[in-house]
Amino acid sequence: MTYASYHDRPYPCTESGCELRFVRSSHVKRHVDTVHRHLRPYQCKYGGCGKYFSRSDNLKQHEKTHQRSP
Ligand SMILES: [Zn+2]
Ligand SMILES: [Zn+2]
Repeated sequence: MTYASYHDRPYPCTESGCELRFVRSSHVKRHVDTVHRHLRPYQCKYGGCGKYFSRSDNLKQHEKTHQRSP
């Protein structure tokens, strides 16, 4: 199934050692800025959201909004 994900997400992360891939090149930049630059290391795990937060408690607070309306 790796071929399918490769095909659907043509833009790989530019950081060595990171194997994440993205649908759009702008998503790569956002990912690098937030995760690898450690600006906002906490990402919402809910599908279709993907918002980043600088603090884990901010993320937990945010995730409650998803749990309220699944
Ligand atoms: Zn990465
Ligand atoms: Zn979210």
